[in-house]
Amino acid sequence: MKEEITRFAPSPTGHLHLGGARTALFSWLFARNKNGKFLLRFEDTDRERSKKEYEESILSSLSWLGIEPDENPIFQSNNKELHQELAFSLMEQGKAYSCDCSSEQLRKMREDQIKNKLQPRYDGFNRDMNLPHKEGNVIRFKMPQSGKTLFEDKILGNISVENKELDDFIILRGDGNPTYNFCAAIDDLNMNITTVIRGDDHITNTLKQINIFKSLEAKIPNYAHLPMVLSKSGKRLSKRDGAIDISDYRKSGYLKETLINYLVKLGWSYSDQEIFSKDELINLFSLESVNSSPAKFSEELINFYNNHYLNSLNIETIYKLIEEEYELSFDIKSNEHYLEILKLLREGAKTVLDLIDQIRFFYETPEYEDKSKELINLDIDTIKSFALCIKDLDFKNLQNLESDIKDYLTSNNLKFPQLGKPLRMILSGRENAPSISQLLFFLGEQESCRRINLFLNN
Ligand code: GLU
Repeated sequence: MKEEITRFAPSPTGHLHLGGARTALFSWLFARNKNGKFLLRFEDTDRERSKKEYEESILSSLSWLGIEPDENPIFQSNNKELHQELAFSLMEQGKAYSCDCSSEQLRKMREDQIKNKLQPRYDGFNRDMNLPHKEGNVIRFKMPQSGKTLFEDKILGNISVENKELDDFIILRGDGNPTYNFCAAIDDLNMNITTVIRGDDHITNTLKQINIFKSLEAKIPNYAHLPMVLSKSGKRLSKRDGAIDISDYRKSGYLKETLINYLVKLGWSYSDQEIFSKDELINLFSLESVNSSPAKFSEELINFYNNHYLNSLNIETIYKLIEEEYELSFDIKSNEHYLEILKLLREGAKTVLDLIDQIRFFYETPEYEDKSKELINLDIDTIKSFALCIKDLDFKNLQNLESDIKDYLTSNNLKFPQLGKPLRMILSGRENAPSISQLLFFLGEQESCRRINLFLNN
């Protein structure tokens, strides 16, 4: 069987966003599942909007996610001469033609069509004029005028259009620059792409590109269009709904494992399994099991995955990530229990940034809100008496410390919250923090005493 070759073809006019990353992931998984190849092509023909910085950022996001192309990226702009040659060759073969319709003429054509309730399109004025090509003229592709263009989408099923609905689109602009639909089809052909996977906003482009393949008598690749990702309320996904760039997710403390699992769930599922390793995904992935209706973005789900991976990854991995990717205002290693502290607090953390914020009080003296101060002051005598006995607790061992505190409560006839609540607030500045014995133990005797005295003396 022929080797499957897929590609991801971003335009480097922005960073890699959620939708783009999903397309890349599905193409990559499909290729891996088929033991085929996954290629990357930068569609950088828009010289004004394409930026090196975006190429680099897309590459870095893909590499962070582990979606690596099997060959060096292709730059579409390098193929410009070939695109131009082929446009002229189609014209010589009578499959395309030179057109000198002015923008004024086109505007009028459009207005008349709208007035007559017709679909606005180029009406073929120059199609049979055989105009000699000259600078400033565009080259238009001769679309078949009867019959249908159809293909079997690997996700959406049969898609067809009456050819009379399609117009003679421009393949080479007046300034000599080839257009997207022409370049994409030629490059897919030259890269031997067997399956094109992209968003369903490209369906009309596919219908045009199929006709380019036909005119070149080339084998038409398979196409699979991914339904779009909608916001929770069913609208087009905007930045506010979570359509942020992959680099932003990374910066705000989402793990790559989370993003892979989450992205794949935006349209693909396997029974009711929620968590997949990359190898499992490679084994299980198929285009047939991609949902043909739009996926919905869910902040709860992405946070669920992130909390899951924060808690299931090796704690050393989490520590290294914090050390390598985030700037901290404290020295995490200054507390010898830093790994245990991370383990303890990751349970409730949503993101790495959240985790960093959660552990902060172990390193920096907490600040107290007025409400907390009032609450602590209700039990201030309990705290004062406890401060006098703190030196008798065994700080060397967590279990011993725990039982010493229990004994202290029993012998002083105290219920746990009477001491626990104010003490937790003094030590951490928060109401929800780990247990008292864990707080005392990880802060150590000296720091615990310092914080209690600081509070009492203020
Ligand atoms: N460059 C196009 C885009 O970023 C993708 C085209 C394609 O996949 O064919 O939307």
